[in-house]
This record gives sequence, structure tokens and C-alpha cells, in this order.
Amino acid sequence: MRELRYNPLTGQWIMVSSIRKERRWRPQNFCPFCPGSEETGYNWDTLVLPNKYAVLSFDSENVKSEGFYRKAKSMGECGVIIETPIHDVKDLDELPIDQLVKVIKQWINVTNKYINDKRIAYLMIFRNKGEEIGVSLTHPHGQYYAMPFIPLKIRNMIQNSRNYFKRYNECIFCRIIKEEIKSKDRVIYENQNFVVFLPYYSNWPFEIHIYPKNHLQYITQFNKDQILDFADAIKLSLNSLNNLFDREMPYSFALIQAPLKGNFSNIFHIHLEIYPILRDKDKIKYAAGIEMSTWDFTYDGIPEENAKKLKDVCKKVNKSYRGICIE
Ligand code: UDP
Ligand code: ZN
Ligand code: ZN
Repeated sequence: MRELRYNPLTGQWIMVSSIRKERRWRPQNFCPFCPGSEETGYNWDTLVLPNKYAVLSFDSENVKSEGFYRKAKSMGECGVIIETPIHDVKDLDELPIDQLVKVIKQWINVTNKYINDKRIAYLMIFRNKGEEIGVSLTHPHGQYYAMPFIPLKIRNMIQNSRNYFKRYNECIFCRIIKEEIKSKDRVIYENQNFVVFLPYYSNWPFEIHIYPKNHLQYITQFNKDQILDFADAIKLSLNSLNNLFDREMPYSFALIQAPLKGNFSNIFHIHLEIYPILRDKDKIKYAAGIEMSTWDFTYDGIPEENAKKLKDVCKKVNKSYRGICIE
């Protein structure tokens, strides 16, 4: 059973599925993502596979709303992006830059696959890392959901950005980049094409956003240099997070692109958002009472001070990166 259910109070869609329950939880002695498994075969350096336990599928049963509640067909696709054949790589910052470029090229391929598919409204490419985040398989992998609706958060961003554009004739994301570069307080790192900062409005203690300096909406618009600098900025950011405390950082990240259909060329600006969940070596920042009930976050500490800590690790890890750490 799969269906989408609409919350008429908040405007959110819930992806309901009984299939998800069947997925194996950390199987021992066997990895479905290693080379030579039934699904993976041999001779690849990155691989895109359909998710075996997909909440969205073009084969989902047709459903029709009856009565008061709205529901819809759970249309779409969920995929897994295997980032290296090597099982023991702990995180993307351990990959050589050209391997990370190959991963980004798979993100481009996936985006190209759906960009003209009328059934898909939004594509979310994301990655979970670490036990505390609930990763069920440790072999390095990302995921994507090709969705038949635009998520509420993205709809909100678009509305705010449209309002800002009407008033100031400027992309609000570009404005944020300008503000950050001007003040430098929260900018961690810059290379030629990307800027890395801890947002003024961070939810997570060490949240990091990576923005292309050029105003672009989709990863398919990146040129060769931008792809390389994007890989470099991601590597540096994760390397910094993994050296912030004496342990690997659990996190999720999401590639925030414009919706696939419609014209967002003035008002949307692609970027990567990284949500690390530790606030200290052995302290997790939980999304709890206030965060769950209101969706508003409390921030333990001061963003500028945490940015300073990230600036310091950046200097430590930045030996062979393409850009500079910002004081
Ligand atoms: N999966 C798969 N094939 C398998 C085993 C798992 O496609 O043989 C999928 C599984 O449904 C899950 C993903 O791989 O969505 C593993 O993702 P992760 O551990 O990052 O997080 P999860 O999605 O489990 O929360
Ligand atoms: Zn493996
Ligand atoms: Zn912009």
C-alpha cells in the first residue's frame, strides 16, 4: 500500500507506505551496495540504483480522494546513489576530488532524468551519514526522491523570494551571499565559484550552506570549473565537520534546487544545506518539543561563535584545497 495524504491544516503531503517497514536494518556480513552483489555487479565507480523499498513509484496504485480528506497517487521514484565501490570509506571528504566529481555528475544525470518529466514536480537529492541519523547501510551512498509535489519548505522559500524580488528586483539568495561576504562573520571558506557559510538563521549548531556565487537554479547548469569547485567546497566542509570534535560528524545534507517545472530563473538560487546534529563531542542537538511543535528552532550558543570554531578547523584541514579559509 502506498499513497500520499494531504494535511489540510499545514499544506504538507505525507508519503505513506507499508513497504518501508520491510527494509533490513544494518544487515551483518552482507552489503547490498558492494560490488558483486545481485544489484550492483562489477566495473563501476559510482552507481545509481532504484531504491528497493521506495515510498514513491510510478507503479503505485491509483487512488482517489473520497469525502473530506485529500489523497493522491504516490507517484515518483526513489533512488540510491552509490558513491564509491569501497565499503569502508567513512565520508565524502575521504574521496579523491575526481571521485567526488563523479558523484556530482550522477546528481546532474539524475536531475536531467526528471527535468522534463511532467509527472515530477520536485527532485530532492540528499545524504544521511552516521548512526545517530539512522543510516541503515554504512556503504557510502546518497539518495534521491523524485516527487510529484513541491515540498512545503520549498514553497515557502519561493513565496518569500518572490515577494522580495517584487520589492527589490533582486534574488534574495544573492542578497544573502552579498551580506555574508561583506560581513565575513559567518563565512568559513571561499573558492573561485563557491562560498561556504554558517547562516545567520542557522537551525543546527554547525549548519553549513554552500552557494555558487553565480545565480543558478539547477545543478545541470554548472560548468566544469563550477563542478570542480563544488566538489572542493563539499570536501572542505565535511572535512572541517569531521575534525571539529574528536569524532566523525553525523549529518544530513540536501541539494536545494528550484522545482523542475515553472520559471524560477529570477528568484531561485541552488545551494547545498548541511545539517550536522552534534552540538558538542558527545551531545546531540535534538529536534524536540519546541522544534517539533512549532518547527521553530532554539539555538544553543551564538552562530558567530560557532562559525569561528569552524573557521579555525578550516585553517587546520585546508592544505590542498582550491580556496581560502576566511578569518
Ligand atoms: N536499500 C536498497 N536496496 C537494498 C537495501 C536498502 O535500495 O538492498 C535502500 C533502503 O530502502 C534505504 C536506503 O537504501 O532507503 C539506505 O538508506 P539510508 O541508510 O541512508 O537511510 P534510510 O533511507 O534507510 O533511512
Ligand atoms: Zn559495501
Ligand atoms: Zn541568486
